[in-house]
Amino acid sequence: MKIGFVGLGIMGKPMVKNLLEAGFDVTCYNRTASKVAEVVALGAKAADTPKAAAAASDVTITMVSDTPDVEEVILGPSGIIHGAKRGSIVVDMSTISPAATKEFAAALADKGVAMLDAPVSGGEKGAIEGTLTIMVGGPAEALETVMPAFMAMGKKVTHMGPSGSGQMTKLCNQIGCALTIQSFSEAFVLGAAAGLDLDKVFQAISGGAAGSWSMSNYGPKVLAGDFSPGFMVKLHQKDLKLVMEAARDLHVALPGTAVAQQLFAVAEKEEGGRLGNQSMIKPLEAMAGVKARSQKKQ
Ligand code: NAP
Repeated sequence: MKIGFVGLGIMGKPMVKNLLEAGFDVTCYNRTASKVAEVVALGAKAADTPKAAAAASDVTITMVSDTPDVEEVILGPSGIIHGAKRGSIVVDMSTISPAATKEFAAALADKGVAMLDAPVSGGEKGAIEGTLTIMVGGPAEALETVMPAFMAMGKKVTHMGPSGSGQMTKLCNQIGCALTIQSFSEAFVLGAAAGLDLDKVFQAISGGAAGSWSMSNYGPKVLAGDFSPGFMVKLHQKDLKLVMEAARDLHVALPGTAVAQQLFAVAEKEEGGRLGNQSMIKPLEAMAGVKARSQKKQ
């Protein structure tokens, strides 16, 4: 199976490395061309446009930022739709609007190209280790074809149903991610205000009932004062905007998510939202007048 890959960001680059390691023939496009060199050195081919990446491939994967970006790389003037062969498959692994996903799938279907929405969870760590969770919407036959590639990038693949249902599942996932960050952040801030040793707080509670993926992976970064991104605040805000749009359309109240969105709105002021989403703790620290850092560093 020849794979085209569009988008070599924090997630895309390690995903490509895992595909190469599994023996796939991969042709990559990235908007900032310099980022392609690293994977070319590992055996990937470079393409000048998404169209060219698709023309060289049976399956073309997109891993870009937001809905308009996926639209551009699939339907734009040099988009995948102009290069993809009839019978080939497009797989969007970005997190974007479920409704727009259905429109992109319909446009591709008119050209005889199937589309899967296959957003992921597991963060940069999951992308590097090839342990991503993949939630898939779209035709089962296309999923069967793409499954070997998914197994090179992830561990758990769930077919959710028709086009858009993978993205809707990912929105459910993003509620959990936001609220578990908020949860451990509030715990750390209270512990800091009470003068507890936060390394010990982390040690004591991360393996118990309050533990979470977010606490285990982001907690140590917060304690070390490391706010570099695995997942940028601005991208998490993009997801919560989609969550709230879906909630409004479906007449569902998500009060916890609304609070998380407000905390991210404040965190987003710093460095244009390019810090990691663990920086949600910063507005909570500011309100409490404390810093939740390791005692060893202070
Ligand atoms: P990132 O590091 O910002 O990478 C984004 C990639 O998309 C870059 O390669 C960028 O190209 C490309 N891109 C953006 N807009 C484009 C456009 N209009 N045309 C062509 N290329 C474009 O983001 P990321 O963290 O890898 O996230 C990618 C997607 O995965 C997002 O939808 C995100 O929500 C989702 N996701 C992220 C994580 C995580 O932990 N990071 C986890 C799960 C899902 P340039 O290099 O030219 O900027």
